[in-house]
Amino acid sequence: MAGLVFKNVYKIYPGDVEAVKEFNLEVKDKEFVVFVGPSGCGKSTTLRMLAGLEEISKGEIYIGDTLVNDVPPKDRDIAMVFQNYALYPHMTVYDNMAFALKLKKYPKDEINTRITEAAKILGIEEYLDRKPKALSGGQKQRVALGRAIVRDPQVFLMDEPLSNLDAKLRVQTRAEIIKLHERLETTFIYVTHDQTEAMTMGDRIVIMKDGVIQQVDTPQNVYQNP
Ligand code: ADP
Ligand code: ADP
Repeated sequence: MAGLVFKNVYKIYPGDVEAVKEFNLEVKDKEFVVFVGPSGCGKSTTLRMLAGLEEISKGEIYIGDTLVNDVPPKDRDIAMVFQNYALYPHMTVYDNMAFALKLKKYPKDEINTRITEAAKILGIEEYLDRKPKALSGGQKQRVALGRAIVRDPQVFLMDEPLSNLDAKLRVQTRAEIIKLHERLETTFIYVTHDQTEAMTMGDRIVIMKDGVIQQVDTPQNVYQNP
């Protein structure tokens, strides 16, 4: 069980750049929430603070009941998928997916079971022995999703995961991510600048501009009261 709470969160970068201000939000356990807004409005910064990749300047972030301000990234029950995939180029797909589990000293059988299951869900069973450079963009993004899934995190973070894919693949992968959310029953936070993605993917949309939240509502209500 892990909902999220942001309490009056700020991020101020050196030079007094207020990237995120007065950010207040509660996300329910298993909810799918999309952060949307133009480039530079603070979406990634908010996600990175949640993942522990960026310090919180002011305010509090809770994952479940835990205040995570001082919890290092590896101790947050979170997996993140980036737009550039961030796969290890010298490792096979299998080893990319196994890496985090090996670090956590999971038994080999357990690692193998998790990778086999995730590969089946994503349709990448045939690529397990390949290196990333032998994969298409869509296949790489599946591997990145697979690497996140095997960790069985409480919270899934995705930062513009489709923006390097062509239009057709984007539509297809969008539908697959929605299905994945239904199947995993996990909290999803998804960042995009694409309004169509936002309107079609989330249970709720958080519209951001200049570091502040402008509106939080269901896609239906946003459509009716823009
Ligand atoms: P988005 O994800 O919505 O495109 P970001 O969170 O990346 O927005 O950026 C929000 C603001 O913070 C922008 O004005 C950006 O230039 C600034 N910013 C982001 N990262 C840094 C950084 N490391 N140092 C200084 N300013 C930054
Ligand atoms: P090690 O870290 O001991 O060198 P590897 O990373 O090579 O081990 O592999 C870990 C385990 O996963 C081994 O038992 C290996 O046989 C198995 N394995 C590696 N690649 C695949 C694959 N593509 N499909 C199924 N099992 C694999």
